[in-house]
Amino acid sequence: MSDHPHPLSEERLARFARHIVLPELGGAGQMALARSHVAIIGLGGIGAPVLQYLAGAGIGRFTLVDDGDVEASNLQRQTIYTTRDIGHGKAVSARRWLANFDDKLSVEIHDKRIDASNAQSLIAGADLVIDGTDNFATRLAVSDACVAARIPLLSAAVGRFQGQVAAFQGHLESEPCYRCFVGDAFDAEDCDTCAEDGILGAMVGWVGTFAAMQAVRILVSNVSSMGDPGWGKLHLMDGMKPGMRPITIAKDPVCRECSGG
Ligand SMILES: [Zn+2]
Repeated sequence: MSDHPHPLSEERLARFARHIVLPELGGAGQMALARSHVAIIGLGGIGAPVLQYLAGAGIGRFTLVDDGDVEASNLQRQTIYTTRDIGHGKAVSARRWLANFDDKLSVEIHDKRIDASNAQSLIAGADLVIDGTDNFATRLAVSDACVAARIPLLSAAVGRFQGQVAAFQGHLESEPCYRCFVGDAFDAEDCDTCAEDGILGAMVGWVGTFAAMQAVRILVSNVSSMGDPGWGKLHLMDGMKPGMRPITIAKDPVCRECSGG
């Protein structure tokens, strides 16, 4: 690499200097991030910190999908929105945040609900999809689309003080998908339980920032050594203890999405 001129401009070098000096990331890792296209599905309590840290990391291109509007009750945890955004679309507000933060990053927004009929077109071309939506039906539709399009999926979820972050490459023969993990029982379910259960802002922020870290690890995995991306592993995050523990997800040999079962 050192024989070639660095393709990052002076201004970008300064912006990402603390990344570039990290041996585990380096200039090659930073360039990989700049070339990456990440689709974030769900711009809520998980999607907000994911976007903040991945924009901070200089991901070159985003696709942002959410059909919701910002509500006052979101502001305790959805950290990219402010009082002024109440009543405005989350996708539009997220684009405004991003433009203020770093106008060199490109973004495409979709103010629509993702489902089985449109998921593949919404995620097309992404290097990684990050799902921070709040119900099983959507998560399964996103997972199925990722398997079909052969795009890796990082799935993040929170319920009360329990969080989960898992990385899937279900399109590979030996790797499980999200459907292998949860099964088919939840396809019809649409359960946004945050409203009834309550959620601590910092809890969902912890899960979102960990998902952002895993995303960086995945995106630089071919060019630098930030550790194992942990495909097929689910990190259980316990906010009460607090602590984390990984579990391995088995491929379901009769999974109807990734095994043709
Ligand atoms: Zn599967």
